[in-house]
Amino acid sequence: MINKLLIANRGEIALRILRACKELEISTVAVYSEADRDQMHVKMADESICIGPAEANKSYLNIPAIISSMELSGADGVHPGYGFLAENSDFAEQVEKSGYKFAGPSSSVIKIMGNKISAKRFAREAGLPTLPDSEGPVDSNPKKIAKKIGYPLIIKAASGGGGRGMRVVNSEDELEKKLDLTKTEAKAAFGDEEVYLEKFLTNPRHIEIQVLSDRFGNFLHLGDRDCSMQRRHQKIIEEAPSIGIPIKLKEEIYKKCISACKKLEYVSAGTFEFLYQDGGFYFIEMNTRLQVEHPVTESITGLDIVKLQLRIASDEELRIKQEEIELTGHSIECRINAEHSRTFTPSAGLITGFHAPGGIGVRVDSHIYNNYRVPPFYDSLIAKVICRANDREDCRVRLVRALDEMYVSGIDTNIDLHRELLVDQDFVEGKTDLNFVENKVKVPQ
Ligand code: ADP
Repeated sequence: MINKLLIANRGEIALRILRACKELEISTVAVYSEADRDQMHVKMADESICIGPAEANKSYLNIPAIISSMELSGADGVHPGYGFLAENSDFAEQVEKSGYKFAGPSSSVIKIMGNKISAKRFAREAGLPTLPDSEGPVDSNPKKIAKKIGYPLIIKAASGGGGRGMRVVNSEDELEKKLDLTKTEAKAAFGDEEVYLEKFLTNPRHIEIQVLSDRFGNFLHLGDRDCSMQRRHQKIIEEAPSIGIPIKLKEEIYKKCISACKKLEYVSAGTFEFLYQDGGFYFIEMNTRLQVEHPVTESITGLDIVKLQLRIASDEELRIKQEEIELTGHSIECRINAEHSRTFTPSAGLITGFHAPGGIGVRVDSHIYNNYRVPPFYDSLIAKVICRANDREDCRVRLVRALDEMYVSGIDTNIDLHRELLVDQDFVEGKTDLNFVENKVKVPQ
């Protein structure tokens, strides 16, 4: 087992990882930027090291600072959480070369999946269903390629992520201008201007499959999640299991994901993301890390995904068999962001009052507390409220009850938006797709 783990992240996920370490009796090292001295996980870690100024590039994304913190503290393992360096293959490679344990797959796997073009190529070869696309970067003759795929289509940056670097094209006359724009933005945001074209689906759902595997050839799936409730291509409500999809179709896609994992020689937790429309699944990407929404899967499987990741990273064998994993009940998660409910404008500042909901079936993963100051530099996620119940409707009602109890003052949050969405009749009936939130929310101009 890892003796001392460095948590290369901040916020709720750093705290989540810290809690798993405590339960596994692993010592913890927190790293933090100058803006994050007051982070809850820093207070709770056995040791902590300041790794640089507020800007993520100089702290949480600063590979040399993190590797030297491992040396300094004597940590023998690192968990990257999500975001920041979680899918950076250079970081994973340096961790491997330095002989540290990494709570994630090998750097070569991260590299394949880190580029959307190579990820789709791999997926196709592994037998996963995909949407028609340009099958490589679009350099010359875009109109011809686009015509073959058919409009509408979506331009995607090969190195894009976090819902950025994408643009929908409805007709040929928009194509070249939007291609130039996306390339320029991709170069600025990701340092790579490579883009490709993919068929755009107009009203799909986002369904993803959680997988877990070790170094001993044990490959498991932990069922699926529906993450269709998104704003600006970013998830805000997630649930498990997805509803309304025939079990036979689900079983088929689980099987395909497992064989793709075997082909990849995948080790650790991972997620295959699909669009689902008219009975068809279409692979869009694989996340080679822990997902923000992993708690809904934990709620319906009873498994602790972070502890299992740490055990796998410590070269332990998974002691669970697929037939032993039961998906029971229903779970829904709301991402509480420090942002305006309508405009989605981020809201930093001092939290003057905070009360977390509780009671049966309610889990709150959050790093905030009374008098905590939300810094303006990072992701706006301040809490995840996750409910579990025997069925979807009980779970939904419980979540509404939990949000009614929740109180945050001093900054804007999207609690009201969540509440509105959860009581919307279409949500109640499970009629969710990727357009749901933006169709319901009237954003003032
Ligand atoms: P990222 O890596 O930025 O998360 P993804 O490729 O996973 O990008 O796509 C993010 C979201 O963008 C999806 O959940 C969906 O909302 C939308 N999207 C991506 N590809 C398509 C497509 N071909 N058709 C319709 N929507 C899409």
